[in-house]
Amino acid sequence: MSHPKLASIFNKDEQKVNWHDKALWFVRHKRDLSVHQVKGWEALRELGHNIKAHTLSNLDDYLVEFETNALKNGVQVHWAANAKEHNTIVHQILEEHGAKKVVKSKSMLTEECHLNPYLEDRGIEVIDTDLGERIVQLAKEPPSHIVLPAIHKNRHEVDKLFQEHLHTKPCDGDPQYLTQEARKHLREKFINADAAITGVNFAIAETGGFVVCTNEGNADMGTHLAPIHIACMGFEKLIPKQEHLGVFLRLLARSATGQPITTYSSHFKRPMNGNKMHIVIVDNGRAEQLGRPDFRKSLHCIRCGACMNTCPIYRRSGGHSYDATIPGPIGSILSPGKDLTKHSSLPFASTLCGSCSDVCPVKIDIHSQLYKWRQIITKETKQPFVKKKSMVFMGKLFSKPKQFERIGKIGRWALRSLPQSMINAKPNVWGKSRDLPKGPKQSFDEWYRNRMKKSQ
Ligand code: SF4
Repeated sequence: MSHPKLASIFNKDEQKVNWHDKALWFVRHKRDLSVHQVKGWEALRELGHNIKAHTLSNLDDYLVEFETNALKNGVQVHWAANAKEHNTIVHQILEEHGAKKVVKSKSMLTEECHLNPYLEDRGIEVIDTDLGERIVQLAKEPPSHIVLPAIHKNRHEVDKLFQEHLHTKPCDGDPQYLTQEARKHLREKFINADAAITGVNFAIAETGGFVVCTNEGNADMGTHLAPIHIACMGFEKLIPKQEHLGVFLRLLARSATGQPITTYSSHFKRPMNGNKMHIVIVDNGRAEQLGRPDFRKSLHCIRCGACMNTCPIYRRSGGHSYDATIPGPIGSILSPGKDLTKHSSLPFASTLCGSCSDVCPVKIDIHSQLYKWRQIITKETKQPFVKKKSMVFMGKLFSKPKQFERIGKIGRWALRSLPQSMINAKPNVWGKSRDLPKGPKQSFDEWYRNRMKKSQ
């Protein structure tokens, strides 16, 4: 289904839409307060942007450097061209060690590759250990946000879900009780796990080490208790040097949740005490995106989620309406590169207000890229007949000021005089979920001309 159709499902529950909107705006506000405390925030963004651009331009060298150093550290490195190869590699590693129970910390890459169902089909239990991820896993839903995967669920829904799956007592959505019960449930899973899977936030070419950021310490808990650690990373997670890490750690936490730093920034370099450590480096369409000059900057993304929190469309349509692993503005740039027809509605799910580009910690020109996808989609995919014709009509209208003025007068009169039922009649899709304001007596142009006359 297209974004407008899925959004209209989310929009049926107005109360939910309102608290979803408010909750994300609260996070955006926290981000603002936090970044305003950093002197030179803009310079830090610029630096992050430049480091990413440099890394992507020299990716071949840095990937080889990373692999060489990781191998020296005793880590086994695997390369996967696509999701299928990634899943096969992870499964083979687990099979070699007879691992049947896996704990996984939050990783959007494994979501992208649909690793959980792949392993479950082969008899392996996979438990997501990030609390939000566990909630959506129990609900059999995909995450709706890359940092706050269960933001679309309120505490009462979680209460019901836990009663059903974890056999907790009804608690009127008491967050403390629910968290304690989740903790007990996950602790048992951690203790009995045969292997731990994590994502990677930053991989450092210079050292062969990598960093995983969590707020719950679940990546550490999993990797310290299980004898096998498999880290899965998209190749864009690479940074050249250890000294660059400070730039990104400062940018990431502040942009994501407004924290000065993520609670746990866990550094991994070599396996401990005879344990095994594997890294799977994945392409899965990234090389193709890198080859598109207009869109290569989308690979700078450090997955902070700030563009989602600020986007008025995301906040009021919910993450599931994007029907993609990465939702929101950045997802609307990444997804069409994977399947243009399936995701053709996503670049239009934006007001192009530019707020996403303003908050992006690595200065991705998100709204310009959305606009570029629109141009490609309009040329390469079939557009509805009415939309095509009306765009031609509007194009002609906008190029003739006199005619535009006349039609504007009629439009303003209609908005003032006709009943709402006529204005919001079926052909007016815009009016389905919006009340248009009363038309003003004069246009801005008329008002401006009158004002200029008076002031002369
Ligand atoms: S595009 Fe920018 S703002 Fe959006 S998630 Fe990525 S880094 Fe964050």
